[in-house]
Amino acid sequence: MAVPARTSNSSSLAQQDGQVRKTAQLQIIDENQHFTPNLSKYLTKWNLIDSGFDYNVVAVFGSQSTGKSTLLNRLFGTTFDVMDSKRRQQTTKGIWMCPSAYSSALVMDVEGTDGRERGEDQDFERKSALFSLASSEVLIVNIWCHQIGLYQGANLGLLKTVFEVNLSLFGGSAEAAARPKEKTLILFVIRDHSGYTTIDSLSDTLKDSMAEIWQSLSKPTHLANAKLETYFDLSFAVLPHKIHQPEKFEADVVELRKRFVDKTRPDYVFQPAYHKRIPADGLSHYMEGIWAQVLANKDLDLPTQQELLAQFRCDELAAGVTEVFNVSAKTVRRPIESGKVVPGLGKLMAEWLQVALSDFDAAASRYHVGVYTRKRQDLVTNLHAALSSLYLGELKNANKAASAKFVTDLAAALKEPSYDFAEVVSRCTRDARESFLSVAKESTVAGSGWEYEQELAMLDDNLKAIADKSRADETKKMVNGVERTVKRQLYEPVEIALSKPSPTMWDKVLATYRDVTDSAEKSYLKKARAYDCTEEENDSALKSLLTRSWLALRHKLEEQTADPVVLSTLRDNFEQRFRYDENGVPRVWRPEDDLEGAFKKARDETLTLLPLFAKVAPEDEELLPTLPVPDTTDTDADPEKFDPDTAFVLVKASRLSQLEARFKREADAAYVEAKRSMVSSISQ
Ligand code: GDP
Ligand code: MG
Repeated sequence: MAVPARTSNSSSLAQQDGQVRKTAQLQIIDENQHFTPNLSKYLTKWNLIDSGFDYNVVAVFGSQSTGKSTLLNRLFGTTFDVMDSKRRQQTTKGIWMCPSAYSSALVMDVEGTDGRERGEDQDFERKSALFSLASSEVLIVNIWCHQIGLYQGANLGLLKTVFEVNLSLFGGSAEAAARPKEKTLILFVIRDHSGYTTIDSLSDTLKDSMAEIWQSLSKPTHLANAKLETYFDLSFAVLPHKIHQPEKFEADVVELRKRFVDKTRPDYVFQPAYHKRIPADGLSHYMEGIWAQVLANKDLDLPTQQELLAQFRCDELAAGVTEVFNVSAKTVRRPIESGKVVPGLGKLMAEWLQVALSDFDAAASRYHVGVYTRKRQDLVTNLHAALSSLYLGELKNANKAASAKFVTDLAAALKEPSYDFAEVVSRCTRDARESFLSVAKESTVAGSGWEYEQELAMLDDNLKAIADKSRADETKKMVNGVERTVKRQLYEPVEIALSKPSPTMWDKVLATYRDVTDSAEKSYLKKARAYDCTEEENDSALKSLLTRSWLALRHKLEEQTADPVVLSTLRDNFEQRFRYDENGVPRVWRPEDDLEGAFKKARDETLTLLPLFAKVAPEDEELLPTLPVPDTTDTDADPEKFDPDTAFVLVKASRLSQLEARFKREADAAYVEAKRSMVSSISQ
């Protein structure tokens, strides 16, 4: 049947809406008193699951076959089963739910509430009354006009049950009774109103009956003075006979509908005070819990139920957002585990957190505030914990990257033609720390309590170790450079001095040695200043330098005192004396010359030079250097070369006499040759 044309906009909108939403009813509690597992699914289908508090619940109560379902279908555009007038079959006991086609209301059709009429016990009546009071804002009580005023009327018995269970629900303990009351609206819909009696008179009669019933309730002592109005608001409506006055019935139904739809009306039924404050996405769980309590015959403590619901839903919501969150976080797990720094990780993590928490807040904040606050804190803690391994990985990778950058930067700077090592190290350290800190600070999520100080300290250790190693390498290179200079400055003067043996030749050699080593030390210390070397490092470098300088000198001296060199020097000296006169002119021997005398003189004078090579023996003994203590790590560390008793000895006595013999033989040969040349000049 078409909904009559409406004048107001909201109604025509509701009508369109109704086309979309009108869906088959759902039996939420079946004849076996089982609660449906499908409510959330249906709420989703009805587009109500995300409506938060923006929905309403209305339930209808009344005797069997009083046209309840007929009324609901007209009033809300629902599709509840209506008893067929031809085949008067019994409608199944249970509670049905259907969404209103005109607003976000859920309509509950409670069948079989009236046990008296059926001759059954009133068990289900109690249970469904408890259930409806715990979840509905408005209770429609459908009542025949002609039954009003008849105390024995079945509906009134039903109301007694409603009042009783309401007291046990909202006033059960002194403590519960002290809480602010959640009110329920009872809307009496008086059917088959003929018009003989005014609605006001009918209302008064009903109110009197209510008061009487209320009075007759046996109340616990702490509720002895409880008033009906504390728990219920009463409202009234009349409808004509549907069959006898179909058009007026339809028009009055449309008028009555306005009280369920138009929020601006003073008699709008869904006043906020009646709302049970159960978010739509938790309604299924809440109702199921309530029903379970009702079945178990337990005291229905609604605040506890709300807390339990809040815990359940907050956990569910947290699990939902965590799942999405984990999927996001997974995208960076692999790169981080493989050692990569993920740029903007902090921003990403903050985004994931923001999405997760705002999604959580949107739904969870509607639940019990204490539970919600606690669960939110748990969620934040868990999400932070889930991210902390990423954060620590990122820090580790940032440390690695910064250390690698430090190595590269340092190497590049040390390739420059000139640099101050200490300055280079401090600049590269600053850069590496900055690059680490920018990653560390960016990825530290605000409020997480995360810290990067420890990783920073580890980075500092790394950088120091790298710098120390590099300084050691550089210092070694520097010592090598100085050593090369020492050798260059030492070799020639030593060669010259030893090629002209004289008693002061050692003084010359050692004076040069002293000057060269002095300037080497100065040059090292000057360069070392740029390396920020420690005193120990300097001491050890200088010691090494001194050892190597001494070994260089010693090596050169050995070279210059090798047999062939000594012999060649002696030969040169001898020839200088024997073959040349004092003016350096080559001699031509004549028979009258004292060849033998000249030979002996030249030979003996030359021989006096040989012992000079035996050991380093300056006339000025002060010039003898203090020998370095050899570094045990030095390869060429023959202890004889550092022992003052042996270090200065160059040619031992046995070799001296060998050299003397060899020299004499060479000198003899020169004499023989000179003699021969003299004889031949005579014979010419
Ligand atoms: P329910 O059991 O209370 O849900 O009643 P139904 O809606 O199934 O209707 C029961 C019977 O009452 C049906 O035969 C309807 O035709 C009839 N009926 C419906 N509306 C009215 C009405 O306004 N007055 C009367 N007297 N009967 C009605
Ligand atoms: Mg029915």
